[in-house]
Amino acid sequence: MSEKFDVIVVGAGPAGTACAYTCAKSGLKVLQIERGEYPGSKNVMGGVLYRKQTEEIIPEFWKEAPLERPIIEQRFWMMDKESTVTFGYKGLEWGKEPYNNFTVLRAPFDRWFAQKGVEQGVLLINETVVTECIVENGKVIGVRTDRPDGDIFADVVVLADGVNSLLAKDLGFHKELKADEVALTAMEVINLPKDKINDRFNLEENQGCTIEIFGDSTKGNLGTAFLYTNKDSLNIGVGTTLSSMIKAKLKPYDLLDYLKNHPMVAPLLAGGESAEYLAHLIPEGGFHAVPKVAGSGVLVIGDAAQLVNAIHREGSNMAMASGKMAAEAIIKANENEDYSEASLNRYREALYESFIIKDLEKYKDAAHTFEHHPQYFNDYVPMMNQAMSKFFTVDGTPKKEKQKQIIKGFTGEKGTFNVMKDLYRAWKAVK
Ligand SMILES: Cc1cc2nc3c(=O)[nH]c(=O)nc-3n(C[C@H](O)[C@H](O)[C@H](O)COP(=O)(O)OP(=O)(O)OC[C@H]3O[C@@H](n4cnc5c(N)ncnc54)[C@H](O)[C@@H]3O)c2cc1C
Repeated sequence: MSEKFDVIVVGAGPAGTACAYTCAKSGLKVLQIERGEYPGSKNVMGGVLYRKQTEEIIPEFWKEAPLERPIIEQRFWMMDKESTVTFGYKGLEWGKEPYNNFTVLRAPFDRWFAQKGVEQGVLLINETVVTECIVENGKVIGVRTDRPDGDIFADVVVLADGVNSLLAKDLGFHKELKADEVALTAMEVINLPKDKINDRFNLEENQGCTIEIFGDSTKGNLGTAFLYTNKDSLNIGVGTTLSSMIKAKLKPYDLLDYLKNHPMVAPLLAGGESAEYLAHLIPEGGFHAVPKVAGSGVLVIGDAAQLVNAIHREGSNMAMASGKMAAEAIIKANENEDYSEASLNRYREALYESFIIKDLEKYKDAAHTFEHHPQYFNDYVPMMNQAMSKFFTVDGTPKKEKQKQIIKGFTGEKGTFNVMKDLYRAWKAVK
C-alpha cells in the first residue's frame, strides 16, 4: 500500500474510532489499523457506556447501537465479610430518552462503532499490528506494520493503541508504566436468564443496574469490584493497582473467585453460567501520569494518553471525547497545511480546557492517598458495617446511647485525633 493518507489511526477502540469517524466525516482520507480479528475482539470493559460523549459523535446512537440495558440504578456497597453498607440512586428518568448511561459488551459495540466510521469513508484494516512509527527529521510521517511491505505514510498518525502504548513509549512520550499507576482487573461474563436478572436486581424490561463494591471485594486493598446487568448476562469483575496486588500477594483470578463466592454476591449469580473470562490493565495514574499528547505529525488519545477517571470509572467517554478533540485539531491542521507540534498542540489545549483534565486534576492526589493509607479500605469499611449493625439492631438500648457507642467505636479504636486526620486527608484527596 504505497498511497499516502491524511490520517492513520492506530487502534479501533472507542478513542481511535471516534477520531477516525470525525476525520472521515469532514472529508479526510483516513486509514484505521487494528490488530484484532475485528474491532472489539480484544477489548475489555466493565461495561458502562456514557450517553453524552457517544451522542456527540453519533446522535441518537441508542436507536441502532448494540446496547445491553439503559442504567436506571447505581448502587455502591461498602462490603465487609458478612454484611454491606449500601447507598445509591435509582431514577426512572434514566430509563427514557435521552437516557444517561448504558451497559454494553465491547465486542459487538466496538464492531458496530467502527462500521459507522467505515460508512463515513474510513479504510479499516484488521489483523494488522503497527510495530513502530516512522520518524523523519523529528516528524512522524507514517507507520510500519507487520505486513510485508508494511510501511504506510500520512500527514498525521494518531496513537489510540490503549493503556500500554508501546508506540508512544518508543517516541519518548512516556516511560514504563509504574506499578501504582496501573490496575489489573479480571472479569467474567456470566449468562443468566433475563427474568432472573430482573427479579434479583428489582428491574423491569430494558432497565439496568450497576453495583460498585469496595472493601472486602479486594480483601481490604485499594481497588474496586463491579457487578453490572446486561440483557441476559452479568458482568462481574475486580481489580487493584499492580502495586497493591504485589504487596498483598494477590492473584487477580483468586480475587475474582473470592468475590463470586462472597455471601453478599453469590446469591445474585446463582445458577449462572460462565461465558467469558477476561483480564486487562486500566491506566489509573490520573493527572500526574498524562504524557506528552502531541508531537510533530502525531497525537496520543484515550487510554494511550492515560485518560481514565478511576474514581468515577470513566474511561470510554474520555477516550471518545479525546478522539473527537484530536480529530478537530487535525481538521484545522489540514486546512492550514501545518502538522507541526505547535499546530497539533491545539488538541492538547482543548484537552486541558475540557472536563477530562479538569476531573483528573480534581482527583490528582486520590490514588496516592488511598494507596498509602490502606485504613480507608481495611479499617473504616468494617467499622462502618459494625456501626450500621449496631444502629439498626433493636436491643432496648436508647438511641442516644447507641450513637455514643458508635462514635466511641470509631474514635476509641483509633483515637479522635487520628480519625479527624483521616477524614481531613480523605476530604482533601477528593474535594
Ligand atoms: C475491566 C475494565 C473495566 C472497565 N470499565 C469501564 C466502564 O465501565 N466504563 C468506562 O467508560 N470505561 C471502563 N473501562 C476503561 C475503558 O475500557 C477504556 O478507558 C477504553 O476502552 C479506552 O479506549 P481506547 O480506545 O483508548 O483503548 P482500547 O479500548 O484499549 O483500544 C485500543 C485498541 O488498539 C488496538 N491496538 C493496540 N496496539 C495496537 C497496535 N500496535 N496495532 C494495531 N492495533 C493496536 C487494540 O487491539 C484495541 O482495539 C474499563 C476498563 C477495564 C479494563
